[in-house]
Amino acid sequence: MLIELADVQFTWRGAKHATLDMPQFSLAAGERLFLHGPSGSGKSTLLSLLTGIHLPQRGEIRILGQNLAALSNTARDHFRADHIGYVFQQFNLLSYLSVLDNVLLSCQFSRIRRERAQAFSGSTKAQALHLLDRLDLTPYLERPVSALSVGQQQRVALARALIGAPEILIADEPTSALDAERRAAFIQLLFECAHEHNTAVLMVSHDPQLAAAFDRSVSLASLNRCSVEAENA
Ligand code: ADP
Ligand code: MG
Repeated sequence: MLIELADVQFTWRGAKHATLDMPQFSLAAGERLFLHGPSGSGKSTLLSLLTGIHLPQRGEIRILGQNLAALSNTARDHFRADHIGYVFQQFNLLSYLSVLDNVLLSCQFSRIRRERAQAFSGSTKAQALHLLDRLDLTPYLERPVSALSVGQQQRVALARALIGAPEILIADEPTSALDAERRAAFIQLLFECAHEHNTAVLMVSHDPQLAAAFDRSVSLASLNRCSVEAENA
């Protein structure tokens, strides 16, 4: 299992109720899983636990067999950089850096991903160029990302998440800034590139229409004992 979660409970500091009370959740190698739920239901909170940005007050999360709570903060940051590619809703690109440098950044933070890109493509730059070509971004390599359209920026974020073949790609509402036609195309491209890098996909969204393309689709409410409170909030 790539992700195994057991009996997790998480309450935001100062909040009266837990946001998540989740008996079980898992992601298998190579799986493409879609997790949907209304806005405010705790999707991003769950992703912050799966990536070790926050630790649950109760329960255990294992990524690739590693218990996240057993790592120091620094080791957890390294572990995340090594094994998880992340696509954010707002991209989180560095606007003053070029397209190419934004993608290469992932390899600067992770020796494992640097070495994988080198073994696979000859060099990190060669792999970045390959991914950016797959994503139709070759004409923009040296442009600052701020000069790109929203759709192009989202594809840069995808290349950055996949370079160095992390085991898991996590995407938080990655298509919400795209128009409807571009959404399906972006997800197809994401699948193709993830498959090429042997990377499993966990995507969350409030839009259940995206579910059809995935191997498995789950509603957060079906996993979360707190869901009733969240929906009534
Ligand atoms: P979703 O991603 O499904 O829209 P979130 O995980 O962002 O939902 O939010 C779930 C609940 O947690 C909401 O009630 C929200 O207000 C609360 N929450 C989210 N982030 C924080 C935070 N940084 N501090 C305190 N509460 C938060
Ligand atoms: Mg969210």
